Amino acid sequence: MSISNLAAIDAAHHIHPFSDMKALNAKGTRIITRGEGSHIFDSTGKKYLDGFAGLWCVNIGYGRPEIADAVQRQMNELAYYNAFFGTSTPSATLLAEKIASHTEGHLNHVFFTNSGSEATDTWFRMARVYWQAKGQPEKKIVIARRNGYHGSTVAGASLGGMKHMHQQAGSEITGIAHIGQPYWYAEGGELTPHEFGLKAAKELEDKIAELGADKIAAFVAEPIQGAGGVIVPPDSYWPEIQRICTENDILLVADEVICGFGRLGQWFGHQHFKVKPDLAPVAKGLSSGYLPIGAVLISDRVADVMINEVGDFFHGFTYSGHPVSAAAALENLRIIEDEKLVERVRDDIGPYFTKAWKSLEDHDLVGTAENVGLMGALQMAAEKKTRQRFTKADDFGSYVRNVCLENGLVLRATGDRMLASPPLVITEEEVDFMVKVTRLGLDAAWKVRG
Ligand code: PLP
Repeated sequence: MSISNLAAIDAAHHIHPFSDMKALNAKGTRIITRGEGSHIFDSTGKKYLDGFAGLWCVNIGYGRPEIADAVQRQMNELAYYNAFFGTSTPSATLLAEKIASHTEGHLNHVFFTNSGSEATDTWFRMARVYWQAKGQPEKKIVIARRNGYHGSTVAGASLGGMKHMHQQAGSEITGIAHIGQPYWYAEGGELTPHEFGLKAAKELEDKIAELGADKIAAFVAEPIQGAGGVIVPPDSYWPEIQRICTENDILLVADEVICGFGRLGQWFGHQHFKVKPDLAPVAKGLSSGYLPIGAVLISDRVADVMINEVGDFFHGFTYSGHPVSAAAALENLRIIEDEKLVERVRDDIGPYFTKAWKSLEDHDLVGTAENVGLMGALQMAAEKKTRQRFTKADDFGSYVRNVCLENGLVLRATGDRMLASPPLVITEEEVDFMVKVTRLGLDAAWKVRG
């Protein structure tokens, strides 16, 4: 099958998520055919370093035969059974235990889903059911953040703070409020990052005062906002958020769909920020994307009510705890443990990446280079000193991304930020390549700026 055939078939039949279809069909879809380690190959044979791990998910890298073997074994033994009405399978049960073993000891229960978006819908309903069972059914509102991302289901898109998603479908559900994001570079003005972190957290306190704590079920946030642009919060932010949620008796939900399973150099992002969430949706790195699976990690506080007061939670998916996805996830977690990938990100390749990524700050286009572990962003700036940003029309992000792509590197762009999230197995030489090609892209953008 030639590439032109596949691209033509794709244009004729395939509507892609989050893609401008008219532009894509004119240009032709890139068909990815193979992956190995940190690299992917397209149908022309071109090789790319995947600096984005697919969609922030291929933590163990591509092409691991151990996962294929585990999946084949499970397929042959039991391709499907469900977790409804009093049954489970060995892989689903053992996976729940394994995930819980990597939390700080208070997230001991797991509800399985097929994706991060379904995990969002699951904790959203669970948080409300929790308060109903506690005799406070009026505690229903969930507070989320502008420019946050929690998935594409109706609840996910409503909770997410992406304006364009709200405007397009007009399908926001009620009982959701939004506050600002801890994005110091863009919104911090004259404040220090520390002061701005406190100010951003105070927005939660003010919103609670406005709506009434007795009306609010939960606050949700990503430990580091991913799709919003890898917004690393100032150090002062998370401790304040924890204090405010505790003092107002509001459930704290840490959306770990990106940060979970090693990306920040801890098993979960909330551990990096020393926060204790009540609920934590996960997906992506749980199976390194080898098969679809997500979950909600549930604290003892919530699980106790769900088990002893609610009993039957009228919620679930045909494929909750699918045994083949669970077998892939179990093998993925074994690899992360045995190869000490979390420790590698914390102590070894993470610090190496930090140094290499930071070296880009000397570029005229770069305002700041930020990262925690292997999740990083370059903030481009029209003027470094005043932190003046480019306008949307400049679209340097897309320009740099395209030059990188031509030169064999996949990165993501959101406006004036370049995002990186490579596999946790990336080597030092591959990090050097990432930085070298990113610099090429920045140089090319600097030239067109004139
Ligand atoms: N939550 C966060 C933080 C995400 O980044 C994503 C996806 O990127 C989701 C939820 C939704 O996950 P999924 O695409 O698996 O439905």
